[in-house]
Amino acid sequence: MTDKLDPRLSDFSFEERHAGHVEKMIDTHVHYCGDPADLAMLAEACSVNRIETMFVIASRQPDQERWMKEVDDALGVGKGAVPYYMLDLQSNDAGQVEHAFDLGFWGLKWIGNSIAYDDHYFDPLLKRAQELHMACLFHTGVLSGGKQTGSGMSLMRADMMDTVAKRYPELLIQGAHLGCPNIEEALWGPEFCDNLMWDCSGGCRFHCEANPYVLHSAVHRRKNAWKAITFATDSTQGMYPPEWADGWPSKIEHRMAEWQKILAALPVPPTSEQLDDFFYGNARRWVERIRSGRKE
Ligand SMILES: [Zn+2]
Repeated sequence: MTDKLDPRLSDFSFEERHAGHVEKMIDTHVHYCGDPADLAMLAEACSVNRIETMFVIASRQPDQERWMKEVDDALGVGKGAVPYYMLDLQSNDAGQVEHAFDLGFWGLKWIGNSIAYDDHYFDPLLKRAQELHMACLFHTGVLSGGKQTGSGMSLMRADMMDTVAKRYPELLIQGAHLGCPNIEEALWGPEFCDNLMWDCSGGCRFHCEANPYVLHSAVHRRKNAWKAITFATDSTQGMYPPEWADGWPSKIEHRMAEWQKILAALPVPPTSEQLDDFFYGNARRWVERIRSGRKE
């Protein structure tokens, strides 16, 4: 291929610490853990980096109403923020899903399970989530925590998303971190399940950077793969603590540049249209699907 690269894949610089300009973005995986200073930084990062919407995951704290009000004030629920409630997966009580819905959450975050995601134990939660059109965002792949609950990556594999998506075809399912390290399995799922998409936050970028063929083989000759991956940072402030910044203006800008470098190095780099989808379009369509489900 001798086609010229899209400017977004050629105008980044690691030496000068900047990403290529992206006109608008959606970040499909960030956290707000309750410190208002973090939320203020996230809101600032949104305007600096032209992020229209963030998918914001709540921490498991007592005052979820306060969390929701703060996020709404800072980002606007349904506009700048799509809020996700943190489930307690030591229980399969569907009352949790109803509680989250009543609080105004649009989705549910799954992490820390000690039973596999595709075990029928979780059917009550999945069934109610599908009925209430609550989107589900599953942590998948390698897990840094989990020692308290006996959780770990074999219980949260990427291929389980395919199984869950088939059992609950009306449920909108987002897998986090491209199933790291099982990127190949992750991107087979959306080939046959249009209710499954992925966010590219976390350590999956290291695999893709070290070996472009990891991502190449996961998208090669797939119909839907480029429509099912979204840019995400897994950030809690959008910024680095100053001692980690290493000259980058924000964590978000660093992540943008990292993905631009990965995508530019692919044996077949994405087209401009695929890039639009990666940074914005796929997530935009996902938000609209969640929104229209909520209205039914
Ligand atoms: Zn996360």
